[in-house]
Amino acid sequence: MALTPTRNAAEALDSQDPLAHKREEFFIEEGTIYLDGNSLGPAPKAVFDSIDRTMREEWAKGLIRSHNTAGWFMLTDTLGDRLAQMLGAGEGEIVVCDTTSLNIYKTLHAALSMKPGRRKIVAEGTSFPTNLYMAEGVRSTLGDATLALEGRDGDRIEDMIDANTAVVMLNHVDYRSGVIRDVKALTKLAHERGALVMVDMCHSAGVIPVDLHDLNVDFAVGCTYKYLNGGPGSPAYAYAAKRHHGKFTQPLSGWHGHAAPFKFEQSYRQGEGARALLCGTQHTLSMRALQSGLAVFDDVKITDLYSKGRALSDLFVQLVESFADDFGIGFYSPKDGTLRNGQVSLTHAEGGYAIVQALIARGVIGDFRQPNVMRFGFTPLYLRFADVWDAANHLYEVMRTEEWKEDRFNVVNTVT
Ligand SMILES: *Cc1c(COP(=O)(O)O)cnc(C)c1O
Repeated sequence: MALTPTRNAAEALDSQDPLAHKREEFFIEEGTIYLDGNSLGPAPKAVFDSIDRTMREEWAKGLIRSHNTAGWFMLTDTLGDRLAQMLGAGEGEIVVCDTTSLNIYKTLHAALSMKPGRRKIVAEGTSFPTNLYMAEGVRSTLGDATLALEGRDGDRIEDMIDANTAVVMLNHVDYRSGVIRDVKALTKLAHERGALVMVDMCHSAGVIPVDLHDLNVDFAVGCTYKYLNGGPGSPAYAYAAKRHHGKFTQPLSGWHGHAAPFKFEQSYRQGEGARALLCGTQHTLSMRALQSGLAVFDDVKITDLYSKGRALSDLFVQLVESFADDFGIGFYSPKDGTLRNGQVSLTHAEGGYAIVQALIARGVIGDFRQPNVMRFGFTPLYLRFADVWDAANHLYEVMRTEEWKEDRFNVVNTVT
């Protein structure tokens, strides 16, 4: 069977792609089709020189002076302001720091600190687990706070936001399915009921248009090693709307969040704006790597990225649809491209994990999420339409030949 549309048709789309030249800015090995940029973005080529310079010049020669002369100390803010341009926020509203998990802890506390009469956190039961675990941590540190989950304690989040709700924690995009949530409408509703909103943008920033001011959320967090290509373990970010600056507190009151870190005072005085969300010294090398990741976005419009991501994923859906039923493959993500972020997740009753392993052996890198979800991220900066065609064709071959049943693809690794 030959898949339709044909590979030639996919190549024709590549020849008309205005973003085609961006692929050269990344290091992608020959023979690799990388469909996991939604988990860890690939290395921008500029990162190698940047890290080298940071080590040889700024660290080896500049030593401690580089905190000032190379701008190390303020990278939390300069990178935050760069992200703010991409995400529809203003200067001083975003800081780059810590991990998404830690930033969830700080921003949930910050929201609760602004609503002393309200003790409930409302969240989606389908949230990325760390979001829920951190909310449980917030609940345990506050003692009297409660956590209500959509799908467990109520059917619809809309109906769960009540007079005791301090904060609603949302995912802009669901990590398993790629489905985009209507954060703007939910935020409006939460505000009408007197609650605040904290949104996780791990799967939206850098791949779909995000305008934090338009969404009108109160706090936001996200990671930078996925669609923003900041590198393994690159720091996360935290957003606090300007209208709340000076009005919240958070418990990780480290010296970098202090109003005057280098006065070395005995007591904590909270710093200004989003800087109040900082805690301690950051990973400078990782921040330099992130800088290279963000620079790739300098000459692209997010709306163009979004259109291409959709077109790539729509092509994959179309190709897979032609054989999915024959092999028991289901669609976990909606087929309608307007509902998702450019990720397509498929299901298979017994084979999910093994199918992903068999594809990886063929150079097509996706990932697997419990219980039976195969995730394929169609990131527009470096993927070609021909890659999408080849990936679908490999999937077809893995299924047709039953290659996935081989023992070697059925050994479970630590990281799936
Ligand atoms: C990737 C991801 C995280 C990761 O959190 P870390 O603290 O960086 O490990 C958190 N939330 C969501 C929704 C994610 O997709």
